[in-house]
Amino acid sequence: MEKTIAAISSGLQPSGIIIVRMSGSQAIRIADEIFRTKSGKRKLFRAKSHTLHYGFITEGSETLDEVLVSVMLAPHTYTGEDVVEINCHGGVLAAKRVLELLIRKGASPAEPGEFTKRAFLNGKMDLSKAEAVIGVINAQNDFALKASVKQLKGEVSGKIRELREKILDEMSFIEAALDDPEHYDLENYGEVLLEKLSPVLEEIRRLIERSEIGSILAEGVKTVIAGRPNAGKSSLLNVLSGYERAIVTEIAGTTRDVLTEQIRLKGISLVLMDTAGIRETSEPVEKIGVDRAREAMKEADLVLYVVDASEGMTEEDMRNLQSCQNQEVILLMNKTDLLSEKEVSEGFDVRKDRVRETEQLYRENERVHVLPFSARNREGLPELEAMIESLYDSEKLLYNDEVTVTSARQKALLVQASESLGAALFGAENGLSEDFLAIDLMNAYRALGSIIGEEVADDVIDRVFEKFCMGK
Ligand code: GDP
Repeated sequence: MEKTIAAISSGLQPSGIIIVRMSGSQAIRIADEIFRTKSGKRKLFRAKSHTLHYGFITEGSETLDEVLVSVMLAPHTYTGEDVVEINCHGGVLAAKRVLELLIRKGASPAEPGEFTKRAFLNGKMDLSKAEAVIGVINAQNDFALKASVKQLKGEVSGKIRELREKILDEMSFIEAALDDPEHYDLENYGEVLLEKLSPVLEEIRRLIERSEIGSILAEGVKTVIAGRPNAGKSSLLNVLSGYERAIVTEIAGTTRDVLTEQIRLKGISLVLMDTAGIRETSEPVEKIGVDRAREAMKEADLVLYVVDASEGMTEEDMRNLQSCQNQEVILLMNKTDLLSEKEVSEGFDVRKDRVRETEQLYRENERVHVLPFSARNREGLPELEAMIESLYDSEKLLYNDEVTVTSARQKALLVQASESLGAALFGAENGLSEDFLAIDLMNAYRALGSIIGEEVADDVIDRVFEKFCMGK
């Protein structure tokens, strides 16, 4: 018999109510032993499903807490088992004592995520939905939350099942044809397969593409603030975080460490990294900072490159920008307050002989965007916000019918599925025999199945649920 599990399911801070949750076949019996109504009676053993009961948790003659208990009977519960939730007064100590009492009466402490794991094992939700529960718990921003809620509603699972079904149709056709060649014809089947499954491969590829931007949005856009010493990087960081965080200094090259900080800008999370001033240097400590800054630029999703507009773009700036190949770059022409209006309107960003190179940079790389800025007067801030918002247009990802996968596990499986399906289609194009094609199709089918938790090994399941918090 599965053991009955119990845990505190709300946070462990003093709060209005703390919920102690219990699930399993013994849940009602255990709760009934310790719950008494105001008149001292037992009541829970005959309680109807989905009912709420007022009373006290007692141990012998001692009363531990005044509570409201919800009784939910299998199978229509979160876990699919009998579930009892005891709403205690907010004291952490009282709730802990209630939990200890449940354990003395026969419940076992639940592992993190065990309630949801039971829901999965009892067929209440598939693995994709269970992961969405983690997503909802851990969501740091609106996008992550909305994407997880969509997933929780089964939209990812639905899409995956649909794609799997199409692959299964072809697998069963091949099998039938190999078994019964008289009634099924494999003549020119390669073409049929290509026609039927190329759109499926395309859809999987699109899911992968969307999951890339999806995970950036869910985890936060890795943003590096870079530029030469004294360009105004620390000042920009301070403007963005809304409070003094980095040490702003007038001596070149003194902000050596990479500072990180998370901010939210119009619902988009940015993980900000301030790098040491990038400058060609021979001084060893500073050199480490410069190397690290260039590394950070390469790994970033977005580079906010700060240029001192009163000095203009330099050779060094051009060289630094060369290391940005795959990231969005916003060139912030800072300190425009030091320039005359004429200079600003006439293209402050391309002063000092850099005209041709800078122009070429924009032409060659559509991911480079230019904005006049002043960290001192906070000028250009609304434009910067708008630009970032348009680069990471989460609304577009969320409000069409398509689903976005944000879990790394699911994305890796999509990649596996696309490789196997790609191999099958390549084989079909090149006249490979059907039993070979069937193997690749099976691999693609399995990889997709693992996304929703079909045919996955126990250790994978354990790993998914380890990410949960206690009591969920
Ligand atoms: P970092 O070395 O790139 O981090 O540059 P800092 O943020 O430390 O700034 C260097 C100097 O430029 C400081 O004296 C700042 O006060 C000044 N500074 C930064 N942004 C602006 C700006 O928009 N206008 C003016 N006039 N000065 C600025």
